Amino acid sequence: MNNQDLFLRDLSVLWHPCTQMKDHETYPIIPIKQGQGVWLDDYDGNRYLDAISSWWVNLFGHANPKINAALKDQLDSLEHVIFAGFTHAPAVELAETLVSVTPEGLGRVFYADNGSSAVEVALKMSFHYWLNEGRQRKTKFITLENSYHGETLGALAVGNVPLYKETYAPLLMDVITVSSPDCYYREAGESWADYSSRQFVHMENALKEHADSVCAVIVEPLVQCAGNMRMYDPVYLKLLRAACDKYQVHLIADEIAVGFGRTGTLFACEQADISPDFMCLSKGLTGGYLPLSAVLTTETIYRAFYDDYRKLTAFLHSHSYTGNALACRAGLTTLEIFRQHNVIEQNKKLTTFIAQSIERFTGHPHVSDVRQTGMIAAIELVKNKQTKEPYPWQERRGLKVYQYALSKGVLLRPLGNVVYFMPPYVINEEQIEFMVEVAWQGVQIATKN
Ligand code: PMP
Repeated sequence: MNNQDLFLRDLSVLWHPCTQMKDHETYPIIPIKQGQGVWLDDYDGNRYLDAISSWWVNLFGHANPKINAALKDQLDSLEHVIFAGFTHAPAVELAETLVSVTPEGLGRVFYADNGSSAVEVALKMSFHYWLNEGRQRKTKFITLENSYHGETLGALAVGNVPLYKETYAPLLMDVITVSSPDCYYREAGESWADYSSRQFVHMENALKEHADSVCAVIVEPLVQCAGNMRMYDPVYLKLLRAACDKYQVHLIADEIAVGFGRTGTLFACEQADISPDFMCLSKGLTGGYLPLSAVLTTETIYRAFYDDYRKLTAFLHSHSYTGNALACRAGLTTLEIFRQHNVIEQNKKLTTFIAQSIERFTGHPHVSDVRQTGMIAAIELVKNKQTKEPYPWQERRGLKVYQYALSKGVLLRPLGNVVYFMPPYVINEEQIEFMVEVAWQGVQIATKN
């Protein structure tokens, strides 16, 4: 088997996610034979450093020995069982661990099987809670400009990235969209904290005006990942928590992308010292091995559904693979690795090293912003550094960086004109230097004329 064989067979039967398939008349799809640590190997003997953790899921490297061993062991006892009326040790132990490591007050775990489904669960639960409490008028959600929460219709409706949303607009529920705390737009010399708190006025106004009809506010804490890795200050989350309490509106923290150490703490909400009413987790939850998601919520919310069956207050939502045993075991092992290897502490050195390595981009004539929150770093390419005028999207500058980086052995996947790094935590300093050097060369080429 070689790259070309598998690529051609793939093209004749497959339809890939988030892809204009016609692009593959020009760019090949790369068949991966095996993965090891930060590396992915294709069939022609090329290696690629996975600088984006395979869509932000991988934490401890491909073919991690510890997770591999746990999964092999799990396979010999139980692969999966229906999760209504039945349970199993990995599901219980993972839920116990999640409750102990997430912010105070989140004591209940509902499993689903991908990020978008977790968002659907949180939206439905919030609405249904208010219904069970006799608050029928609460039917709406507040979201931030430039947010992303997934591709299923409910999740897409509460997201705000036009590229994914606009086509399906006629199918989507109405939401209230509020200006984002995204610090890219702060004034020269203004701090992140000042800008993010100043932006809160829009949220306060929306809550004041609509609280009676609003179930919840949904946010991606600290980093709007799919929205070009835009970042904001924790103070916004503090203000938001207080306002949600004041106006009796739930707070849904979508930590699907930022959870599990990406922002420098195990969960981004910790940096604002807040507990949301719902926390959605997925991606890193299984270390990047298997699809699984979890929605954590409070005992108060759980109790509002708990009654005699004939009252019909139960949450009758399900997915066939809810609480899959293999996925839960991978999750449990992932959290063991965090504990045993003191990962959050260890990552601080990597975070500093990444910051030093990307510093050189600040002076680049076509870079308007170099930003970082923990283990996520981003470089914004623009046509005009002074005015921040973006490159027209049609020029696909990011794609040029992607192509160049692949030819040099690094998997980067810029979002529009934003080149970013979100590597697995097993990356070392030498690999960071290599990844950043290739990105630098790619940026030189992509911004030439
Ligand atoms: N929420 C956020 C913040 C995400 O980044 C994503 C995925 N990129 C999702 C939800 C959706 O997750 P999934 O792709 O697993 O449906």
